[in-house]
Amino acid sequence: MDYSKYSAIIVGSGFFGSVIAERIASELKKPVLVIEKRNHIGGNSYSEIDPMTGIEFHTYGTHIFHTSNEKVWNYIHKFTEFNSYFHQVLTTYKGKVFQMPINLETINQFYNVNLKPYEVDDFLAKEKAKDKFDQPPRNFEEKAISLIGRPLYEAFIRGYTMKQWNKDPKELPEFILNRLPIRKNYNESYYFSKWQGIPKDGYGKIFEKMLSNPLITTLLNTNFFDIQEKIPSSIPLVYSGPIDQYFNYKFGRLEYRTLHFEAEVHPYEDYQGTSVMNYAESSVPYTRIHEPRHLHPEREYGKKTLTIKEFSSLDDGTNPYYPINDEKNSSLVKKYREEASKLNNVFISGRLGDYKYFDMHETIAAALALFEDKLIALVSV
Ligand SMILES: Cc1cc2nc3c(=O)[nH]c(=O)nc-3n(C[C@H](O)[C@H](O)[C@H](O)COP(=O)(O)OP(=O)(O)OC[C@H]3O[C@@H](n4cnc5c(N)ncnc54)[C@H](O)[C@@H]3O)c2cc1C
Repeated sequence: MDYSKYSAIIVGSGFFGSVIAERIASELKKPVLVIEKRNHIGGNSYSEIDPMTGIEFHTYGTHIFHTSNEKVWNYIHKFTEFNSYFHQVLTTYKGKVFQMPINLETINQFYNVNLKPYEVDDFLAKEKAKDKFDQPPRNFEEKAISLIGRPLYEAFIRGYTMKQWNKDPKELPEFILNRLPIRKNYNESYYFSKWQGIPKDGYGKIFEKMLSNPLITTLLNTNFFDIQEKIPSSIPLVYSGPIDQYFNYKFGRLEYRTLHFEAEVHPYEDYQGTSVMNYAESSVPYTRIHEPRHLHPEREYGKKTLTIKEFSSLDDGTNPYYPINDEKNSSLVKKYREEASKLNNVFISGRLGDYKYFDMHETIAAALALFEDKLIALVSV
């Protein structure tokens, strides 16, 4: 393959890489090559159709698009319309269903009281006072108890946190918990963004449209590191893979949490009545059950439904999902970022490149900014 004919090489076809490729092809009218190691485009935002039920599901976990950024909202509308899906999260604890994040309904239902919003602070202050600590919180558990009191912590936070981190919250540092949002009203919207929804034709179609420009060539099933040596260093490279891998792990490996999923088909139209149900207790091995038919209330699906159980664990290096923001990984990524800043013509960014949890709208905003601030000048010449 003649790589020298491309004005830029993009590694990764998630939102970061796809936005950059689309901008270069549509705005600068230059040829661009996208290299993707998976057998599909779209990165972790990809969606596909379950063959048994015809229900569209998000391959790497439920993805809700939400943003208050008008520029991002206008940009994404070039490729899709959104439905009116509104995200709400529920949690099952001891066989009962509660609102999450904790709101007034959760508190009233849990304690079997009927508090008014202005009574919540005093009520929780009494709950917190039952566990007086002599010193500032030393770990995640103490911090959580100091914020919401022991009963709510033990019901809704402890087991879920254990499953997410595979560690007792007593062994987790207190600084990973900045705040525990408690709503003193009945607001049950998960997001406070100006806009939210699910792409009407699914995420997969967005990526197909984004990369459909004939100036874009996409190579699937291709690992960048297998062809890196053949790519001339004079061509600008946008790399959205793991930053530690780019530098051949020379300072050590960054750690991630990962997820795995187990799908089931049920002979009912509706299994759980909502798209995402959390399971708070540590005795239940999974963290959530997704039921993707609820993401598209506008669609007519058949009489069967699909559910997907989500399990969380530490990544063994094969499927990085969530960065771990502890001291060890934060100082490691700082070293890699310093190395990245010394590179000429190479831009390492996106979820894996920045080693940061980005929502989709933040990823798109970051890619648009890189295109405008650096790539227009570099690729236009
Ligand atoms: C479980 C989960 C749920 C989420 N839910 C939401 C949500 O509800 N709402 C929301 O806004 N955001 C959500 N997100 C965040 C969203 O997934 C990210 O914002 C988005 O995927 C980031 O895009 P990206 O392009 O940076 O990375 P990715 O989507 O991860 O894309 C990177 C791509 O690079 C490829 N790649 C890596 N290394 C190489 C290599 N060496 N050679 C070739 N290709 C390579 C990968 O295969 C991948 O396709 C969620 C994330 C997770 C993990």
